[in-house]
Order: sequence, then C-alpha cells, then structure tokens
Amino acid sequence: MAYVIKDECINCGACIEECPVEAITAGDDKHVIDPEKCIDCGACAGACPVDAPVEG
Ligand code: SF4
Ligand code: SF4
Repeated sequence: MAYVIKDECINCGACIEECPVEAITAGDDKHVIDPEKCIDCGACAGACPVDAPVEG
C-alpha cells in the first residue's frame, strides 16, 4: 500500500525532497502522493512536521 497525505498537511514542502522516487507533488490544499510511484519507504512521514503522511 502507498502512503497517503492526510488533510492535516500544511503544504510546507519538506517531504518532496525526501522522497526517493519523486512520488510527491504539491496540490492546492495539501501535497499528494502518486500511489503508482510510492514504494512505502516512510521517508516523507519522518520529514513531516505535522505527521500528515500515513500508511494507506
Ligand atoms: Fe515517497 Fe517513501 Fe513517502 Fe512513498 S513513503 S511518498 S516513496 S517518501
Ligand atoms: Fe504536507 Fe507534511 Fe509534506 Fe509538509 S512535509 S508538505 S505538511 S505532508
């Protein structure tokens, strides 16, 4: 299962550069993970100040 970013996301962008497969993009209200690219590494969750990325 891919990680998903919850609504708590504050669009800070910290997770983008941590993702080894460039699965994260900025959205209007929150950042979004492409489930086709995500390899479930958890790096985005470790970088996030509000714990928005969670295992889907
Ligand atoms: Fe990228 Fe890993 Fe987060 Fe998936 S879990 S979006 S691969 S950093
Ligand atoms: Fe959103 Fe967390 Fe990523 Fe910042 S690090 S853009 S708050 S998911």
